Formats: sequence, C-alpha cells, structure tokens
Amino acid sequence: MTSIEAIPATTRAAVTREFSMVADVTDYPLKQPSDLAPGECILKLECTGVCHTDLHFMNGEWRIFPRLPSVGGHEGVGRVVAIGAHSKGGVVKLGDRVGTKYVIESCLQCEMCRRGFEQNCADRVISGYHVDGTFAQYMVAYLDHLIPIPDELPSVEAAPILCAGVTVYNILKQLTDTPPGSWVVVHGAGGGLGHLGVQYAKAFGYRVLAIDSGADKRDLCISVGADKFLDFKDSTDLIADIKASTDPLGAHAALITTHAGAAYVQAGFYVRAHGTVMCLGAAQEVSGLPMALIIDQGIKYIASQTGGRQAVYEALALAAQGKVRCHVVERPLEEINSVLEDMYKGRLAGRAVITF
Ligand SMILES: [Zn+2]
Ligand SMILES: [Zn+2]
Repeated sequence: MTSIEAIPATTRAAVTREFSMVADVTDYPLKQPSDLAPGECILKLECTGVCHTDLHFMNGEWRIFPRLPSVGGHEGVGRVVAIGAHSKGGVVKLGDRVGTKYVIESCLQCEMCRRGFEQNCADRVISGYHVDGTFAQYMVAYLDHLIPIPDELPSVEAAPILCAGVTVYNILKQLTDTPPGSWVVVHGAGGGLGHLGVQYAKAFGYRVLAIDSGADKRDLCISVGADKFLDFKDSTDLIADIKASTDPLGAHAALITTHAGAAYVQAGFYVRAHGTVMCLGAAQEVSGLPMALIIDQGIKYIASQTGGRQAVYEALALAAQGKVRCHVVERPLEEINSVLEDMYKGRLAGRAVITF
C-alpha cells in the first residue's frame, strides 16, 4: 500500500438511506489504504457531476435497487491519493488527476470488454449502485478504469463528460450513414445530456434543431451552437413544426435525451425515410410507436448507455480542444438535495456539479 497523504477514517458523503430523492449529508466510513485490494485505490475528489441516473437509482424507479445505505454518483474527478499493495503498474500513478465513471470496474477479459463494450460486461460494477460512488469527497475506485484528465480541461468541466458527454458522443459516432450537414434534432437539448449533444453533433458537422422549453434553455442551446430552437410548449403540432424547421422530408436523425416516452413516438414521424432515432433518455416504456410506419420507412432506432474507456478518451479530447464545453452549475455537497429537486423538475439548464 502507498499513499501520498493521511487518509481520514470517514469522508463527507451524501448517503441514501431509503428510496427517495433525499440524501443524508454526513460523515461516512472510508476504507483504509491497508485494506485496499490489488487494483483498488482511493481518490480524493475535487468535484462530481449529478446525473439523472442517480435520481432514478435513489428513487428506486428502475425496478433495480442499489443496496442501502449507499452513496450515489459516477462523474468524479480528483487525485489518486492511495493505491492498494501489489497493484500492477498502469497508466495512472499516485497524485494523477483522473476521472471515475459509471462503469467503475469490469473484467476486461470477456467478449464485451474485448470489443470495448465494458458497460455490457456481465461482471461490470456500476458506481453508486454496486459500490459507493462519487457523492463523497473520498472514495474507492479501480485503477484499470480510471481515465487521465487532459491538462487543458478544468475538473468541473471534465466531470460531466465522464457520463453525459461520452453517452451522447458514443451514440452520435454510430451515425455512419448520415453525412455532415444533415439535420439532427436534439430533444431535451437544454439539459445536461442535451446541451452536450448539441455540441458533439456540431463537432461531427451536423446542423442542429434544439427542442426544449423556456428562455433559459433557449439561451443555453443557442449559446452552445444550436442552429435553431423550438419551444415544445409553444407548438401545437410538433411534428409539423420540426419538419418546417428542418426539411419537408424530415430530419435525418433525432437524439432523444428526455425520458418522456412521447418523444420517441414523435421522432418516428419526423425523421425521414432511413433516418435514425438515437435513444438515450430512459423512458420506463414507450407505447404508441408507429411500427408499420417505422418498417415502411426503414427508420432505425438505436440505443446506447454510456461508452467504453476509449470513447471516454475521445469525448474528453474534443472537450480539451474546446469543441465542447459543459455549462456547469457548481453547488456544494450540502445542497445536493435541492440540486436533485431542480433536476427532477426540469429547472436546471446545463449540468449540476458538486464541488468539495
Ligand atoms: Zn450518468
Ligand atoms: Zn467483461
């Protein structure tokens, strides 16, 4: 075991004790360096993003339940302050500034891991679900899955790339038959995923129609490069308005970041033949999909959750080059419950990042 500073016995953490959106900010036991297994380390976090997945887990909404008590969070940036004895040397050393992400550990040996789909490894370990996550100043992480943060990138701007950023990047990368200049509709464009989706779509050379509601979200979408904005609350016929704003044939693709099921149904009507609907917002279920139309028009629905390690490197590199910049709302850990409530009610433009 090696460490570069004294490791406290407890850490400030937002602890979920029952399934609700209310976490208990308190002192929480911390594994000590001498107890770390090979491959494990302790991070001292500078900040963590807050993701909608955290809300779903804490609320027990997905019929899969984290153990209790638990600490959520999976977009952490900080420094490696202790490494377990007998760990292999790797790309990360003591003192390095690194990111820890949703898939905090996987086997790296199975077919899914070999293909870069670590998120689909049968032995994946999810941060804030199987193990305690990033809503704590200190946490245990796994060396193999840590990602070095580029020097150009401030920690608070890097954190949301580790889940929100890589998720939109990874699915946009799959638009292989959609040439630059095509219209991509980003639904939920003013949120954490959405405003990054606008920017990654622009980085890929697409034209973007942003859909959301309210002046704050409109301003954010336009400031990050959306070509057009449509307020869905001002529209009585969203499908017709999207076609009028893009092309009479319809948009080439839609990136759905909202968890409103209706958005998936609408997209089936406003993307053109052989268009693609990218599914990211975790609607519980979607009824009313026009399957006869989808088959007739050859529309592709593709889905993805997060991305493998290589995709994280690529998504961070675009942010470090200044092509993507997360709009961050910084809050202290003590305010996490009001952050969660703002997210739940759709009041937050951009991404909330907790700073320690
Ligand atoms: Zn996430
Ligand atoms: Zn695996």
